[in-house]
Amino acid sequence: MLLLALPLAVAVWAFGGFAAKRERNNADQELVRHLNSGASVYARLLRDARRNAERLAGSRRVGRAFAQSDEHTLRAIEQAHPWIMLLHGAAGRLQGREVEARIDVIGRGRTIGRVVVVPPFDSRLVRTIANEARLPDGRLGFLLDHRLVREDGVGPVGSRPKAGKPADVRMQGLEYRAVAVPLGEQRDAPALITVRKRSEIAAAANDVRWRVIGIGLGLIGAVLVTAYAVAPAIARSRLSRLQRDQAERVLAHLGDGVFVVDQDGVVRLWNQAAEAITGLRAAEVRGRRAEEAIPSWTTIATFVPVADRPGDGDAPSSSETVPVDVAGRELWLSIVAVALDDDSVYTFRDATHDRRLEDLRSQFVATISHELRTPLASLHGAAMTLREHDLPAQTQDDLLEMIAEQSNRLANLVEEILVAGQLDSGSLRVIADSFDPEELVRGVVTVARSRVGEETRIEVVVPLVVPKVHGDSERTRQVLLNFLDNAIKYSPSGGRIEVGLAAVGDRLRFSVQDHGLGIPVGEQERIFDKFYRLDPDQRRGIGGTGLGLYICRELVRSMHGRIWVESEPGKGTTFAFELPAEPLPVPV
Ligand code: ADP
Repeated sequence: MLLLALPLAVAVWAFGGFAAKRERNNADQELVRHLNSGASVYARLLRDARRNAERLAGSRRVGRAFAQSDEHTLRAIEQAHPWIMLLHGAAGRLQGREVEARIDVIGRGRTIGRVVVVPPFDSRLVRTIANEARLPDGRLGFLLDHRLVREDGVGPVGSRPKAGKPADVRMQGLEYRAVAVPLGEQRDAPALITVRKRSEIAAAANDVRWRVIGIGLGLIGAVLVTAYAVAPAIARSRLSRLQRDQAERVLAHLGDGVFVVDQDGVVRLWNQAAEAITGLRAAEVRGRRAEEAIPSWTTIATFVPVADRPGDGDAPSSSETVPVDVAGRELWLSIVAVALDDDSVYTFRDATHDRRLEDLRSQFVATISHELRTPLASLHGAAMTLREHDLPAQTQDDLLEMIAEQSNRLANLVEEILVAGQLDSGSLRVIADSFDPEELVRGVVTVARSRVGEETRIEVVVPLVVPKVHGDSERTRQVLLNFLDNAIKYSPSGGRIEVGLAAVGDRLRFSVQDHGLGIPVGEQERIFDKFYRLDPDQRRGIGGTGLGLYICRELVRSMHGRIWVESEPGKGTTFAFELPAEPLPVPV
């Protein structure tokens, strides 16, 4: 602040000096102005005197007085007219006087006298002119040789200022500033002069300087005091702006969606994550009422409590997961709300995936219970019946057959759950070996054929020469068996099922084609998800865990293969997977 104040103070000082100089200039200009006003009054008085002289020269009284040499009358007339002298004969009385006009008085054809205009350069005239020109006291005077005639008397003058130029003169031991104008042609003609004491001018200039410096320093002081007073506020506002910018940056980069609803129910903030999660742009939402801008707002407002402080109450219960319908898409948002002054701040994350998994898991529990109950009930029934001793041999065989089948079904179920668990924990072992795919296909088909009725035909389509496959033969069998099981299961009215092998580039493709129920296009991706079933409630009466295709996908991936489905609802489905093949031996 001192750095600022110092140059300002120097500037104010310089400005004070400048103002004082201007004041002195003004004083000079004022002298010239006064002189001009005085000179114009003098010129008018002179004009009047000339007119008067002409009038007197023509008057009878003057003519008679001249003709009769009536000195008494002539002096009386002169007394009445101060600027006029009436001369006849010698002009001795004019000695040293400035004559401005002479008019002859003619009598009987000859000059009998003269009317002369002689300005009386005395104190009275000074006073008259000063009064008429409205000049301040003591400013005006006449300069006659080296004498100055003023209202208050006559005194000597040291030097005579040049015509029209303000100059310093010394009179009666005092310094004056003066400007003069000659009133005649001659060099030493009387002059009209305006004067002002130098000390008076200096005092006025000084006064102005100190006034300017005083005001300037006062202003600097005021600025400094204001700056001092305002500085902390500026610093605070800069700090709060910085903090606000930082908070906005943090909000923008936060993974959680954040929005703020003010006390009037208008959305004030909608961050980037909120845009990303919901697909609603900030521009569409901000500044609008929440119930118009935010889908399912009523649900959110009803179910999500607004806590007074973050983490109020027990944390888990303060976040609510609510369904929000955005443009026909159902999103599950886990939302927490906190009151901030008069606003409510909502933070949310997309819980749709978790929610879906949760749904699938609970479906799985229901399905698995059902899947376990059926074979267990059959086993229990068969065992109870077998306890009766007098059963026919055929019935006993049938019951034992059923027990074997159902326990096998149970074992498969348990195996599926086990494998899914191993896949989740990453503990499933897959061996890298090479095997004959045709042998594997024929083995799987033979087992399957023994399980189906007459309405189902299973055919194998294999090329003449098939390369060996890189992979785990047991895991591959598991995948193929699952495909074939599904093809049989989801073709309730039977039909032809074709199990194919084909070499495609450096890979071998296994496929199972059925003519069963088919899968809608929108579901074809998801059937490979864990627990996912098209018909979770088993309305078609076809059981299953939703784990089979998930296991297939993970197994094929772990053998560096790929898996996919092609299907048309009502027409049938083809499941296929490819595994790396070994190069065919070159025929010799
Ligand atoms: P599941 O134990 O229910 O059969 P999967 O994972 O094997 O479980 O299959 C998932 C879902 O895919 C099944 O519930 C079924 O809806 C559908 N699906 C599988 N294979 C077929 C197929 N060949 N034809 C029609 N739908 C099928």
